[in-house]
Amino acid sequence: MEVLRRIAEVRALRDEWRHGGERVGVVLTMGALHDGHLALVDQARREASRVLVTVFVNPIQFTSGEDFETYPRHEDADLRLLAERKCDAVFAPPVAELFPAGRAELDSFLTHVRVGRLTERLCGQVRPSHFEGVTTEVTKHFMITEPDVTYFGEKDYQQLQVIRRMVADLNMRIVVESVPTVREDDGLALSSRNAYLSAAERTIAPELYRALCRAATAISRSPDTVARSLETGRDVLRDAGFEPVDYLELIDAQTLEPLAKLDRSARLVGSGWLGATRLTDNVAIEPPPTMAPS
Ligand code: AMP
Repeated sequence: MEVLRRIAEVRALRDEWRHGGERVGVVLTMGALHDGHLALVDQARREASRVLVTVFVNPIQFTSGEDFETYPRHEDADLRLLAERKCDAVFAPPVAELFPAGRAELDSFLTHVRVGRLTERLCGQVRPSHFEGVTTEVTKHFMITEPDVTYFGEKDYQQLQVIRRMVADLNMRIVVESVPTVREDDGLALSSRNAYLSAAERTIAPELYRALCRAATAISRSPDTVARSLETGRDVLRDAGFEPVDYLELIDAQTLEPLAKLDRSARLVGSGWLGATRLTDNVAIEPPPTMAPS
């Protein structure tokens, strides 16, 4: 497995792969890899002839006061896991390779990719400028690694839809594949930030997924009473210790607009804080056959 630090090295390898007619799968990560990330790598390994994984804690997606400095970084362990998964190459650049002016001078980075509307609500409301940081950095990584196919987790459902939309709107020649959320045995979605949870918070954390599942069952049974089921779900989360609950909503699976009725493919999305840690999760929910548009 090659470990690349420089953009020029990635370009040279990419040229070699292109000439060899390889189908290149790219997985973008911020490292601190867990089985959720590795599910993306495994799917890439099955579907692409070459697999490149990036490990880069992207400074421009952290809004002010967030955990950029303290975000977990375990590069040696990450490289070992990726080698075990038969990954072909890892691009793990220093910040200055992508942002030459350095972290302190990010204001002097002038070009941004912004996806409208889809980024304005949910996590976009709680973390202003977050998605612009994601789409700008993802675009840079796409320009450098030139994926034929790329893999994103359903864990970050809003991000997945934002990336799909960006790729479509900008005519990027990249297939975007999604991978289902990998969970702990008790239902908690794997996340690098779960490492921040205290033992007490860790016991409460699976309540988010349970609340989503319970709300999904209630809404499936009675698709016209969405608001009440969501209000109950928010109360359950608050009672469990989530403070604040940022949102618990039923949204259209494509447009991410809130739904008052389950009459199309939808997603139940939830987010809230346990102490200093913000958790997010989501589940798919389909309308009963009688409610689906014909
Ligand atoms: P991150 O390192 O958090 O930026 O995540 C990198 C990629 O891994 C994103 O596409 C995430 O959606 C995906 N991912 C993170 N956690 C999970 C999980 N538990 N299951 C599936 N995919 C995940």
